[in-house]
Amino acid sequence: MSRTGDNVLIKNLNYKIILDTIRNAGAISRIELSRQTGLSRSTCSGICDRMLKQGLIHETGKSTSSGGRRPTLLEIQQRAGVVLGLKLMDGAIDGAIVDLGGTVLQHRIITIPKHQDPDSYISYLIDYYHDIEAEHAKAYPEVKILGIGVGVGGRIDSKNGILIESSVLEWKDLRLRELLEEKLRLPVFLENDVNSLAFGERYFGNGRDYENFLCLTMGEGIGLGIIYHGKLLTGDHNSAGEIGHMKVSLDGEAPECACGRKGCLEAYAADRAVISWYEKQTGELCTISEIIIRADSQDAVAKASFERAGSYLGLALSTTVNLFDPQAVIIGGERVDAAPHVLPTMRSVFNENTVYNLAQEVEVIVMEPSNDLWVRGVAALAVREFFSRSETWEVR
Ligand SMILES: [Zn+2]
Repeated sequence: MSRTGDNVLIKNLNYKIILDTIRNAGAISRIELSRQTGLSRSTCSGICDRMLKQGLIHETGKSTSSGGRRPTLLEIQQRAGVVLGLKLMDGAIDGAIVDLGGTVLQHRIITIPKHQDPDSYISYLIDYYHDIEAEHAKAYPEVKILGIGVGVGGRIDSKNGILIESSVLEWKDLRLRELLEEKLRLPVFLENDVNSLAFGERYFGNGRDYENFLCLTMGEGIGLGIIYHGKLLTGDHNSAGEIGHMKVSLDGEAPECACGRKGCLEAYAADRAVISWYEKQTGELCTISEIIIRADSQDAVAKASFERAGSYLGLALSTTVNLFDPQAVIIGGERVDAAPHVLPTMRSVFNENTVYNLAQEVEVIVMEPSNDLWVRGVAALAVREFFSRSETWEVR
């Protein structure tokens, strides 16, 4: 590579290091920035001046250190732009406009008919986009939508924007990124939904302080996102983390899973497993929300149906922790609303089955129930994309 090429590369690298350091710190002085990055003060200043002109960062109040002249702090201009995070489900589209700091500005969920083919689904998606965009333009006319993150359950080739297989939407081999970019005229970033959630936790949430953690989700499916050395571990065939289909029983009488095999974790711990076990015990077919309400009011069978799910989750989690030895496990997914009933059994089975007493050393964090937890995760991936390209942003 030419000397000029080398210089551009180093400049871009320094730009990214500085941007990441400011983002992680929240607010930081130029002196501290130079100390933390190991870059000279003049390099830091030059790059920060450019970021200020780009409108990507801004100067804020004085730091609290006492004595002498107090330096101005730099922080990310969180409204320099926003992204749209979308989760595509069978029968619903969930999305949120999120700023660069992870704050949700607009959240909108709509229901659509189930079992749509890609073309009809995308036409609902276009309508959805126009509605949320109009709402956003009204509230924040000066803040541009920079791009769209899309999360889908299934096997996703994120690098090439291809949906390889989604049992949720019953689609296969679809160049989804290309299709959406063509219709929506914005850059689109595609990822598996559980991976997005794990990344969102790393970027905006509970995983900020951890380089290695697992994000276990419970709900309609059981999923696992793996953050390893600060990055998403997606596997060589885009299918790492398929914990839902980890066998927890080899019994020939084991319940059948949606994947067609028997004895998978999902067949014991996903929503439909809880529902069908409860039905078997009581003869009553209830929704998952009804079972939660009954468990909350001390219905013994309802409580037991979640405890049973919890014990299988604890077993699968102990195996996974034995394999990865992470710093932390973050429990998420829509069924965190049943956490009080699931967790005690899960925790005790987990404690009993980890090697070297690892369970005592691994931090277990439960995400707060929230209706925007999925879409914030997908948005985080889109935000990262924009930060990684921001050195080429125009100077205002
Ligand atoms: Zn299965």
